[in-house]
Amino acid sequence: MNSKELFNEIFLGYDNFRETKLGSEFITHSELISILEQLQKENLFKIETLGKSVEGREIFSVTFGTGRTKILAWSQMHGDEPTATAALFDLINFFASNNSFTKFRNDLLNEITFHFVPMVNPDGAEKFKRENAFNIDLNRDAQRLESYESKILWDYSEKIQPDFGFNLHDQNSYYTAGRSGKHSTISLLAPPLDHVKSINYTREKSMQVICKINDALSQFIPGQIARYNDDHEPRAFGDNFTKNGISSILIEAGYHKNDFKKEFVRKLNFVALLSAFRSISEKDFEKVDYTKYFSVPENEQLLFDLLLRNLTLFFNGKSFKIDVGINRKKCMNLESKKFFYKGTIAELGDLSIYNGIEEYDMTGFKIESSNMLTVDESADFNLTGKSELKIINGSFLNYDNIKTILNGKTIG
Ligand SMILES: [Zn+2]
Repeated sequence: MNSKELFNEIFLGYDNFRETKLGSEFITHSELISILEQLQKENLFKIETLGKSVEGREIFSVTFGTGRTKILAWSQMHGDEPTATAALFDLINFFASNNSFTKFRNDLLNEITFHFVPMVNPDGAEKFKRENAFNIDLNRDAQRLESYESKILWDYSEKIQPDFGFNLHDQNSYYTAGRSGKHSTISLLAPPLDHVKSINYTREKSMQVICKINDALSQFIPGQIARYNDDHEPRAFGDNFTKNGISSILIEAGYHKNDFKKEFVRKLNFVALLSAFRSISEKDFEKVDYTKYFSVPENEQLLFDLLLRNLTLFFNGKSFKIDVGINRKKCMNLESKKFFYKGTIAELGDLSIYNGIEEYDMTGFKIESSNMLTVDESADFNLTGKSELKIINGSFLNYDNIKTILNGKTIG
């Protein structure tokens, strides 16, 4: 079976491995603990407590495999990015189960020792927020290591000295793969070790493995894989690990049409990681021309959640044509544990180079506002003219809905 066929089979058989106790939208620390308690009964896995978060929640590692090559994969250092935590447990199920991929699975376990750290930021996860309890972004704390959680991850890496590091995140929905207009469903990065983006042997290996991931995923999401921005961030883990000789790979799970619960990108994450593990265990990434990495289109921020085109703004008796780009942030009501969205005007003016995940031609609609619209603020303004607008899926978005989005409440 060639690798394309293998990953197609794995993709089709994914439901056999999916950890059904976890959703992809929100994972609590207690859910994690209950799965790990079960896992403890399996001989294959060694579970350790690496330390505790600021609020006292344990951070765990799961180690398995006996190979010489060491892989560290960690997820959810941003608390509101749980997709890969779910995918790591899907992978654990893949390795735990007797399935039709026994040879492939055993080869991986013989060649590689895996160290998974799911949910590096349990305090952020609990509140569905990016930062830890000190409101520090852990991925900007790799040098100072002031946060307990960053120090725990760093110290663990120092202890095990991995050859490869997988840094697993979720990205927002505003990215396209190049200028294609297609969503960037998965984006990948070989983090640079300096501002001139040097390519040393360590980074070259990351690029080669990324090319293999790109090959494996292309059959499922053609044209929807992108290269994440490679500006050097001296405070980030991936950049510092690369500097320290760990070939690092960032995987960002992005938006896919109708994948509201992120189950599809979770599955893609699962396949992406297995394809990387395979290329590392078989060392076939070494044959890849690393410059192919640059043929993966760049992540471009060319989308808004909602784009209103051709509105008319009146000011001092004159009219002006403006487009309004609105983004929605997914937030959680901490009491009800229900999601809601906060709408914010991201940009105003000529937005003709952008597309909207939802967009409407607002020709004939006037903005009547005593204040000017403001970027970066939730705004409320009146649209007058037509009473409702037809949208693509046949339902209607009316003035109240638009106003609701702008007021930061849920729609639909
Ligand atoms: Zn992130």
